[in-house]
Amino acid sequence: MRHLIALFACSLAMAGASASDPAPKPAAPAKPVAEFKASDAKLDGKSADVKAILEGKGSAPAKPSIKPDLKTAAVRTQAPAAAAAAPAAHDEDQSEVDLSVRIAERLAQLREQQAARVASAARAKKAADAKRRKEAEAAIAAANKPKNGTHWTYEGEYGPANWSNINSNWAKCSTGNRQSPIDLRDGMKVDLEQIAFDYHPTSFSEIDNGHTIQVNVGGGNFLTVGNQTYELQQFHFHRPSEERINGKGTEMVIHFVHRSFEGKLLVLAVLLERGRANSLIQTVWNNLPLEKLTSVSPSIVLDPNEGLPEKREYFTYMGSLTEPPCTEDVLWIVMKQPMQASPAQMALFSRLYPLNARPVQPSNGRMIKESN
Ligand SMILES: [Zn+2]
Repeated sequence: MRHLIALFACSLAMAGASASDPAPKPAAPAKPVAEFKASDAKLDGKSADVKAILEGKGSAPAKPSIKPDLKTAAVRTQAPAAAAAAPAAHDEDQSEVDLSVRIAERLAQLREQQAARVASAARAKKAADAKRRKEAEAAIAAANKPKNGTHWTYEGEYGPANWSNINSNWAKCSTGNRQSPIDLRDGMKVDLEQIAFDYHPTSFSEIDNGHTIQVNVGGGNFLTVGNQTYELQQFHFHRPSEERINGKGTEMVIHFVHRSFEGKLLVLAVLLERGRANSLIQTVWNNLPLEKLTSVSPSIVLDPNEGLPEKREYFTYMGSLTEPPCTEDVLWIVMKQPMQASPAQMALFSRLYPLNARPVQPSNGRMIKESN
């Protein structure tokens, strides 16, 4: 019977301990049982079976057919009157009580150890979670860190697809939805208002800015369209043309960049085809700076009118700068009639900039208006 008591107490205790363990491991009881060996040296021969039970290899494993009788066990352990009838029986009962107490103590110890293991695992999980969280935060912080690169190109690692990753202020290059250039097609043919040019021969300076040849012009050159007047700031060149008309580009393009008094931008594009020499381009090529990023100011004047085609029909749409920072809200005017430049003039620029054109951007359903 005492075997049954021990077995029952043991199974109850272990069931309780297991219930509090979210991830019980099969090998978990091995360690506490090994510790038990040292302390049970004093136990008499009767305890051998109990020890075996606690070690999980006892001679009296729980047999499904034997059901522990709690009531009988209680009567036996709590009925000293019956036991007093015979001193030998009393001793035996007393030793069973002692045994039960020791088993209860040992099981309590096992439960404590198991709880400690659970707590330790929880602490380890918490630490691992905290580490993961910290790493994720660091990655986000690195991604959000302001970038202030200034070097960009038309190809490779610093090319158009990566402009927005170079400098935080250039985000529009990838997130903007009104970017330039675009392929001009399906325009709304209407009677567009005439552009009034008020250009004059003007002083100028030239710079090879590392992306193109740019000509900064003196003040006093105006363009008026839509009841808004813009002043010419500079013009520069791209090869091939950035803009396309019904999918077709030209060998080069000139961009005349204007600014209104309120700071609004207007860029007028004049496409260049192979043909006769262009006097405006010749003046610019004649005065090319010898070194990059060094501005030269010739003691002559140039006439921006020489860069305008005879016919004044145009396309117009809202877009952006075609280089970083890709600023939007730029009014574009693309002249329908191309101008000509000689093969020699084209070849000279191609030695400096064989490719300095941003790829065509999605038009995203923008309205394109076109002269009738
Ligand atoms: Zn341009």
